[in-house]
Amino acid sequence: MDVFHFEVIQLLIKKQVGMMENYELVIGLEVHVELSTESKLFCGCSTRFGAEPNTQVCPVCSGMPGTLPVLNKKAVESAVKAASALGCGVEEVSIFARKNYFYPDLPKNYQISQYERPIASDGFLMLDGRKIRIKRVHMEEDAGKLIHSAGESGPSYVDLNRSGIPLIEIVTEPDLKSSSEAETFLNNLKRILEYLEISDCNMEEGSLRCDANISVRPRGESRLGVKTEIKNMNSFKAVRKAIDYEAARQVSILSKNGRISQETRLWNESIQVTEGMRSKEEAHDYRYFPDPDLMPVYVTGQMCREITESIGELPLERKERFVREYGLSEYDASSLTSRKKVADYYEKVVSGKINPKAAANWIMGDLMALLKEHKTEIDSSPVLPGYMAELLSFTEDGRITGTTAKDVLSECFATGICPGDIVREKNLLQINDQDLITGTIREVLENNGKAVADYRNGREQAVGFLVGQIMRKTGGKANPAIVRDTLLKALKEM
Ligand SMILES: [Zn+2]
Repeated sequence: MDVFHFEVIQLLIKKQVGMMENYELVIGLEVHVELSTESKLFCGCSTRFGAEPNTQVCPVCSGMPGTLPVLNKKAVESAVKAASALGCGVEEVSIFARKNYFYPDLPKNYQISQYERPIASDGFLMLDGRKIRIKRVHMEEDAGKLIHSAGESGPSYVDLNRSGIPLIEIVTEPDLKSSSEAETFLNNLKRILEYLEISDCNMEEGSLRCDANISVRPRGESRLGVKTEIKNMNSFKAVRKAIDYEAARQVSILSKNGRISQETRLWNESIQVTEGMRSKEEAHDYRYFPDPDLMPVYVTGQMCREITESIGELPLERKERFVREYGLSEYDASSLTSRKKVADYYEKVVSGKINPKAAANWIMGDLMALLKEHKTEIDSSPVLPGYMAELLSFTEDGRITGTTAKDVLSECFATGICPGDIVREKNLLQINDQDLITGTIREVLENNGKAVADYRNGREQAVGFLVGQIMRKTGGKANPAIVRDTLLKALKEM
């Protein structure tokens, strides 16, 4: 760890006591999103993740001379969808350009991207009631991947399965003011893209990647400071930490009258610092020029309207409707709608005239815990929405107790058998039979003389103990309200 790193850590600690408060943080993000089309952007190769290296490759995406790219219409539609959902103006004509550079994962020695005429620009995303401006959305192809062998001297390999997978890049204006805002922005953006079903947004698999442009300036100053670009952040948490580190590093330099150099820096996750990668002087000159192999992309007004109309409700609208329609709290509505498939599941459950609040609690609580434990997604849950509705109707009308319901849910999850059959087969219906309950209570009181004596001596806790004994004797099936009433009556009569 160098001395400078130590100073930055000190500054992060001092943050709480106000050192950083004299400076303002300015952040812009560039988000790369892999589109989940079946085939690549300019050829028919599969985009499936996780295949054996170089098994999803053809002459086009491996950059063979003499091949010609053919544009994937689905990818254009996905880009238009994203642009519309972000309030961008979609261009009728946009141009693919070649971005020239050499790297072993780029067999053509240029990447097909968009430069001067992107497919869309000037949009926004709402963040806590404030508009974060989106500067542009453009399309481009992904590069291949290098696989380095462990150790310093081993060979590196090139896997071109990723080469040519369609991406959109979403670029914001420098409107974000803190690391937590940047993280919330990314979360909201991810929600929208998931709702549009154009990307799985899986950060671990690289479907969503983000670079951050960061600068600081003295509070009240209107000119922007010199910015650095941070790359290589592999999670939202890493984005937040990298921004905090980089801001502290810059403040530390400025507060000693130093100068920030404009450069690209890499986030080093293992030691939690940003490290210089290349300065502005070494920056690439990509020599962009229009790709002569590709026609301009035409998006007619008609096509744009049709795509925009096909966009359903977006997360924010759906959250507001959940509050309005189901009487849920902001918190519950927000949790349920944060992912489209969870919200879809919820709406299927409550369509069976189930209490919306109870359904929210059971889905976000017990069901989510089971899904997490078994690493299952809600859309492949063995507890189908209809089963969940059936289970909740059993608890609502008192046919089974809450304790029983939890057991039935686990059983249903493990076996896929519907709750009604489980309840019948295992004879789990709630016991409301007064005589049976009274008989059990008598038995329990006879066997627990000490607890009864405690109760007589004014120790109220004894009641809880006795209720527990009675419930245990009935296998958790006795109606708890009847048990309590009858027990209290019996104790008074003794
Ligand atoms: Zn191909």
